[in-house]
Amino acid sequence: VNFGDQLVTPEEKTRRVGGVFSSVAGSYDLMNDLMSGGMHRLWKNRFVAKVKPRPGEQILDMAGGTGDIAFRMAANGARVMVSDINADMLEVGKKRAETRGIHGLSWQVENAERLSFADGSFDAYTIAFGIRNVTDIPAALREAHRVLRRGGRLYVLEFSTSEWPGFGELYERYSEHVIPRIGKAVAKDEDSYRYLVESIRRFPRMEQFRAMIGEAGFKSTSVEPILGGLVAIWGGWKI
Ligand code: SAM
Repeated sequence: VNFGDQLVTPEEKTRRVGGVFSSVAGSYDLMNDLMSGGMHRLWKNRFVAKVKPRPGEQILDMAGGTGDIAFRMAANGARVMVSDINADMLEVGKKRAETRGIHGLSWQVENAERLSFADGSFDAYTIAFGIRNVTDIPAALREAHRVLRRGGRLYVLEFSTSEWPGFGELYERYSEHVIPRIGKAVAKDEDSYRYLVESIRRFPRMEQFRAMIGEAGFKSTSVEPILGGLVAIWGGWKI
């Protein structure tokens, strides 16, 4: 499988992705603001508006990292299980939740490809900027389907490819030249940010990923482009 532009075994990829996020955990939130010019906040707001978390609902926020999505959903009264393969990211998240006085969250280390939760445990499954880092994406989507109850919903927020003429090339240049430099200057970690850029480039196009969600068993799948598809929100239902 690919790790950035290198070929590695699946186990090695999972291990290296772990290394990337342990390395960036401390500077992750600041980096998101710098790299996206603060826009990731708007994308996350839009995402949670689509999920429509309701009071008392049980939601699994997979690859939840430092809690950005979970905090927004808990504000609507949902009970959120924040899961991530990386304990360092979750630690940063727990501290942020304490500082902000956010309640209703549980935290658990989990690999999206093999979840420890029982079938039908959740009303909704969310994953934001996480699925592209997962080694076996079809396996993760099948697990999402398994742990959702009937009538449950899946929402994915991820980078894809913009279909606006010229915009894709502009972004390519930005991501190739600017992001690793910010990574070097701020996070002291150019390589991790090179990996992140490369993983975005390799992620499927909007319709292709929508088909993958359908193949995992989801019905009434949808995709909403943001900035022509540079970022997109996919949805699907377990019926
Ligand atoms: N959802 C958060 C957000 O939007 O700010 C964090 C996104 S961060 C870019 C990606 C996260 O995916 C990291 O915290 C990483 O540890 C996690 N991740 C990568 N592979 C994973 C896997 N196989 N299972 C669960 N989490 C994984």
